[in-house]
Amino acid sequence: MTMFSSDLSINIEDALREREEQLRFVLEGSELGFWDWNLETQSVKRNERWAIMLGYTYEEIQQTTQQWTDFIYPDDRERAWASIKDVLEGRSLIHKIEYRMLHKDGGYRWILDQAKVMQRDNNGNPIRMCGTHTDVTDRKNMELELERQAHIDYLTGINNRRHFMTLANNELKRDKRHHHDLSLLMFDVDHFKAINDQYGHQVGDLVLQKLVIECRGHLRTEDIFGRIGGEEFAVLLPETRIEAAIEIAERLRMITANTFLVLENGKSLHVTISVGVTSCSCIDDIDLLLSQADKALYNAKNSGRDKVCIWNG
Ligand code: GH3
Ligand code: MG
Ligand code: MG
Repeated sequence: MTMFSSDLSINIEDALREREEQLRFVLEGSELGFWDWNLETQSVKRNERWAIMLGYTYEEIQQTTQQWTDFIYPDDRERAWASIKDVLEGRSLIHKIEYRMLHKDGGYRWILDQAKVMQRDNNGNPIRMCGTHTDVTDRKNMELELERQAHIDYLTGINNRRHFMTLANNELKRDKRHHHDLSLLMFDVDHFKAINDQYGHQVGDLVLQKLVIECRGHLRTEDIFGRIGGEEFAVLLPETRIEAAIEIAERLRMITANTFLVLENGKSLHVTISVGVTSCSCIDDIDLLLSQADKALYNAKNSGRDKVCIWNG
């Protein structure tokens, strides 16, 4: 009887060891980092791949959750912990999230982290959580680049119309919530068709690029600058009253008039812009604001160009 019981336990141990070997083999083959967190002792076991993914040897890493937190890019930490807590506290079944982790080389790697609670005690409290890490940096960088390209105007590198509208709408909602004034400028290159006709489309493109560089240098980082048409641009100025907006519009008009492009024949080419300005504190409709600025811009064009006009209802 005794013999039989110890035989059985040896068999179970053998089977377990075999399963563990199989699991290790699968994990190594799949290049997955693995972590196994014991919530009672607060220790975390990791495999070698977990460390290698971040440029370390197995011996160099500590088996603590603190080190995991320290490796995560600071802006991603809260999100990563919130996802873990959702699973621990039963609000979701699976922790599945992508975040950046610091590599030994000083750069960051995008990690896909997927985990589940593997064991709970009799009261339902989690006592063991296991997960895997996959390095998804290449895929993530490609996605981010595609996203960037979808948002950016290919010629000037600023926001394209669609992205400008998205960012502007978000800003309008935010400023309305906080009862902040904000202003919108819309400007258009004067007689641009004539520039194209006289110097060619390529020179026209250079003019637009130079204009954007100059204007960008005079805007704040929080200003939202977009190319909303061929030679038509818009700038949303958060937390900016009409007086300040007029000053900025004047400044953009002046630097454009003073900026020139040196052509191949050594001659310099000057351009001017007309600007429409509008301001509000409670409108959250970007189309309405754009139509006001557009009317002011129309007045600037009709009253001689190279001018700033304000929408006055
Ligand atoms: P206005 O002073 O009334 O604005 O006159 P304009 O000639 O600037 O206006 P119009 O709308 O007649 O012409 C705009 C021109 O801008 C026509 C179009 O070919 C040119 N354009 C639009 N997009 C681009 C671009 O990406 N590159 C170049 N080079 N030209 C462009
Ligand atoms: Mg024009
Ligand atoms: Mg135009």
